[in-house]
Parts: sequence; C-alpha cells; structure tokens
Amino acid sequence: MKIEGPKELTKWVQMTDKCCGCGACINLCPYFKQYLGNTVQVFECDLETGRCHAYCPKIEVDYAELSQKLLGKPYQGLEIGQFKAIKAARAGGALPEQPYQGGGTVSAVMAFGLAFDYFDAAVLTDSLNGRPMPRIVTRVDEVLSCAGSKFTAAPTVSALNQAIHEGYRKIGMVGTPCQMTAIAQMNYNQLDIEAIKHSQIFTVGLFCNWALSPTRFVPFLEKKCNGKNITGMDIPPPPADMFVVKTPDEKIEIPLKDIRPYIDQSCFNCIDLTSEWADISVGMFEGRPGWNTLLIRSDKGLEMVEKARESGYLIVEDMPEDTISHLKQAARKKKQRALRVAKKQNELNTSPDKGRSSIILPDTVIDQLMK
Ligand SMILES: Cc1cc2nc3c(=O)[nH]c(=O)nc-3n(C[C@H](O)[C@H](O)[C@H](O)COP(=O)(O)OP(=O)(O)OC[C@H]3O[C@@H](n4cnc5c(N)ncnc54)[C@H](O)[C@@H]3O)c2cc1C
Repeated sequence: MKIEGPKELTKWVQMTDKCCGCGACINLCPYFKQYLGNTVQVFECDLETGRCHAYCPKIEVDYAELSQKLLGKPYQGLEIGQFKAIKAARAGGALPEQPYQGGGTVSAVMAFGLAFDYFDAAVLTDSLNGRPMPRIVTRVDEVLSCAGSKFTAAPTVSALNQAIHEGYRKIGMVGTPCQMTAIAQMNYNQLDIEAIKHSQIFTVGLFCNWALSPTRFVPFLEKKCNGKNITGMDIPPPPADMFVVKTPDEKIEIPLKDIRPYIDQSCFNCIDLTSEWADISVGMFEGRPGWNTLLIRSDKGLEMVEKARESGYLIVEDMPEDTISHLKQAARKKKQRALRVAKKQNELNTSPDKGRSSIILPDTVIDQLMK
C-alpha cells in the first residue's frame, strides 16, 4: 500500500465525508483532533508519509496485501473471515453481575487479561450522556464500568495511540470492524515504527452492521431524552424494529426507521460485519439472550479464551449450526451491499495500480461475493 501524508488524508477522507471517526489518526501528533464527533486537522503538516495515512481504514485498504502480511495467506473474502473456532459464550462466575450488552464476553476477556497480567492496559469505550468516550483502563472495575454498547462511532483508536505513547506495551483493545482494520494496518507497520514492533495488542472486535454519526445523533438523542442521564442503549432482535435508550427511570423506544438517517455515511461501504482482523470477535447471539457469539481467529485468541474459561471468567459452549449459517448470510449481505455502494462511489478497485480507492480487493473475491 502506498503511504502518503496528512494532506492526502484530509483531501481524500475528511473532506469527502469518508472518515469513520475511528480515531486512528489522533494522538500521533498535535495536528489531528476530535471535536464534537468530527476528526479535524487543526494545523498544516507537510509530512510526506505519516502514520495517520498508514493506519486510516478508509483511505486505501489492500485486503490481499494485508492478509498476506498478517495472516500469511491470500484474502479469500469469506463471509465471516477466517477463524479457528466459533462458540457461544458469556461471562462466568468470577465476575460480578453487571448490565453487559449481551453475555458480557467482551468485558470478561478484558477483565481476565488485566487480572492475569496478559495486558497492562485495556483500551475501551465509555460514554458521557450518549457521547462515546475512549478510555485507557488498568483495573477490572473500570472494565465493568465501560460495559455496554454505545451505538455511535467512537474515536477509540486514539486511546490506543495514547496508550502506546504512554509506554503501555501489552494492550487489550475492544473495537468495531473499522477500528480493527486500522489496528491491522498499524500491525502491518509499513513505516517500521519501533514502538509498534514492541507492542502486543490483543484485539477483541465487535460485530457491527453500522454505527451512528456522533455529530448528528447525539443532539437528536439529547432532545429525545430531555437532558436525562443516558445509562444504556439496545437494539432488541427482530421483530422489535426499535432502538431503546435507557435512562435511570425509563426506557425510551425509538422506531429504527427514525434512527437510520443518523447512520454514519462511512458505514455504507464497509464490507466487514464481524471484525475479521481481530484476535477474537464477539456479537449478540440472536435467540439466546444473555449469550454472545464468539469467533476465535488467532492462536492468541484460542489461548486467551481457554485460560479465561479455566479461571471462571468465561463460560463457553458449542454453537448451533443454524446460527452459524444465519450469521454467514447476514455477513455476506453486508459485503454485497457495501461492494455495490463502493463501486458506485468509485471506491472499489482490484489493484493499487488502477487508481485510488478505499477498498482494493482481488477481482476473484469480488466475483465470488457478488454471486
Ligand atoms: C456501533 C455498534 C454496532 C453493533 N452492531 C452489532 C450488530 O449488528 N450485530 C451484533 O451481533 N452485534 C453488534 N454489536 C455488538 C454488540 O452490541 C455487543 O457489543 C457485543 O455483542 C458484545 O457484547 P458483550 O455483552 O460481550 O459486551 P460488554 O461486555 O457489555 O462490552 C461491550 C464493550 O464494547 C465496547 N464498546 C462499546 N461501544 C463501543 C463503540 N462505539 N466503539 C468501540 N467499542 C465500543 C466497550 O468498550 C465494552 O468493552 C455492535 C456494537 C457496536 C458498538
């Protein structure tokens, strides 16, 4: 992948509404900042190649090259990516009861990693009245206070950059597919950054169909909740067709059709439902409340899940075949939708030589996905 500088990043991503707000370009230098949900460059920078450009998941991701580099094999365009095991999981008895989003698998893995020194910090997403807030945490109680999904796009990778800057080297990181793609590019380390070479980042990717634009959605939410404190958000499974906002004394139901206009534009050409670049990926288990779907992708992921299970932090069971095939169908649909959009936007290419595009995929993969 060709790495350029902040000028190109601003021109091709921020100025063209392609930024997903993942925060990968923030806290690397004094120039990129997050302001009320927008990523902005506050001063000119003449660097010709920058980490901001190298890590961005929206300027140019060459899936074949990334896969070869990180996984040692071609990118195959599998619906839910490559994985070693798929399980049903939830937090075990070693953790207190807590209002997790689903089964608490994500919090359980992060808590286990900190408690047993696999990580010296975890990078998570908290919220302040509906606005997502990236956090670097080092204690289990802090992990629990970040539980629950904030359905707005969050600049969480900025906190990973900060954690590396502060000297943390064993880091657990939770994020959405675009954030996982940014970290995959970081791990590719084309710019040969010394701190990255010495950092071990264990990634827990969330399933994600879309995230809401913080700049547009947060003001809408504030109005809907009349300034009340927001304690949680949920999208109950079909046929509910509702978005639920929790406050200390009520649950406010908003029809999903009123929420969809706030989906971040950058989500429409995202081909990843299940965070394919993560060590493990976690989503809801439709039809089994209080449980999660868990995809284990790497050897590190296998080890972490097994150790967390042995220590009582996780409960793991087999996953029924029909649930797996349902998930694959949903993931394929997202890929097909996104490829159609990307093609229309001129953001899909089959080789870097054919011009700039945010997604570069082998033509065999595009053909096979569009069948
Ligand atoms: C924007 C978004 C869209 C999602 N869409 C789907 C979907 O379509 N299908 C599906 O099955 N699951 C989806 N999920 C994942 C699902 O909501 C749960 O996060 C997941 O099942 C894990 O549940 P848990 O009980 O293990 O999480 P918990 O133990 O409650 O932990 C949740 C973790 O998510 C992190 N987090 C919360 N909000 C964000 C954010 N905005 N960005 C990055 N990290 C965050 C927190 O740091 C916390 O560690 C989505 C999540 C998000 C944030």
